[in-house]
Amino acid sequence: MKQYEVIIIGGGPAGLTAAIYLERAGHPCLVLEEYVCGGQMVNTPEVENYPALSKISGAELSSSLYNQAVEQGATVEFDGVVSADLEGPEKKVTTLGGMTYTAKAVIIANGAKRRKMGIPGEEQLTGKGVAYCATCDGGFYRGQKVVVVGGGNTALEDALYLSNICEEVHLIHRRDEFRAAKVLVDALGDRENLKIHYFTVPHEVLAGEDGKVRGLAVKNVQTEEISEIPARAVFVAIGLEPDNQRFAEQVQLDQAGYILAGEDCHTNLAGVFAAGDTRTKTLRQIVTAAGDGAVAAAEAGNYLASCR
Ligand SMILES: Cc1cc2nc3c(=O)[nH]c(=O)nc-3n(C[C@H](O)[C@H](O)[C@H](O)COP(=O)(O)OP(=O)(O)OC[C@H]3O[C@@H](n4cnc5c(N)ncnc54)[C@H](O)[C@@H]3O)c2cc1C
Repeated sequence: MKQYEVIIIGGGPAGLTAAIYLERAGHPCLVLEEYVCGGQMVNTPEVENYPALSKISGAELSSSLYNQAVEQGATVEFDGVVSADLEGPEKKVTTLGGMTYTAKAVIIANGAKRRKMGIPGEEQLTGKGVAYCATCDGGFYRGQKVVVVGGGNTALEDALYLSNICEEVHLIHRRDEFRAAKVLVDALGDRENLKIHYFTVPHEVLAGEDGKVRGLAVKNVQTEEISEIPARAVFVAIGLEPDNQRFAEQVQLDQAGYILAGEDCHTNLAGVFAAGDTRTKTLRQIVTAAGDGAVAAAEAGNYLASCR
């Protein structure tokens, strides 16, 4: 089996950028990616804030990054990491596919996942009307009534996208002001088939006789009144959360579960680095994830040199 100097967990912009930098510096690396390369941006129709690319689809940027990493010599395996032994000079990473890989250094670049609502019906109806990606699953509900939950950029983008293809879109927001770009908030007003429910939170996802979503029970936080919105799908866009519990016994996390690491991407363990959305930071974006990937690769290179 090929010997890798660095294992990178996650093939998003942080992980793939780290791979490009490591290979160019002569450090063979393995990227382990559980789904598809590109990470969160893969289903984003348009990225408009990546420097020098005024408009590019997330899919195009993802495949371009992936190709660049592979062209530089990175090995990418599509397999999820289930556990890791990160203490000591030899790091071991075990995958869902039953493989165990070893390397001197590890870069954790596993990003963040969509937050769940945590209400009755959500788990049972996921994939049967409860969805976390409007651009991936919106097409299944063309011409139907749908609900979007959330009040940030993603929720508003989802609501606007769905209002183009669905009969009616209900946007559920717990406050009366959105935390989203002004251009998105302004665009809501132009949509006749988009109804906004302020001061409202999701209460229960309701199942129909066919075992699929028939609606969402919602609660008005001011009056406590509960009402039902008939809909065939509920799109959840209430933010992201880290997924680092599998590393928690070895790597220090903050209270929210992000890996404690500064701008140099160092964790509390020698030879283990955290890059991108997975670490404590103020701005989680593609450009900052890519920046972290470059820094983590350089720091991993310095660490490898210090081991010789
Ligand atoms: C809908 C949406 C739109 C966005 N639009 C923009 C935008 O326009 N501009 C912008 O700058 N940012 C945007 N962002 C944010 C941006 O996508 C993220 O900040 C960026 O992708 C973070 O990169 P990352 O590499 O740290 O993590 P991620 O992109 O989350 O990638 C992490 C990767 O690791 C993989 N992974 C996770 N766990 C494991 C495991 N156990 N084993 C193996 N692999 C694993 C995941 O499958 C994923 O591919 C958007 C995000 C979303 C959700």
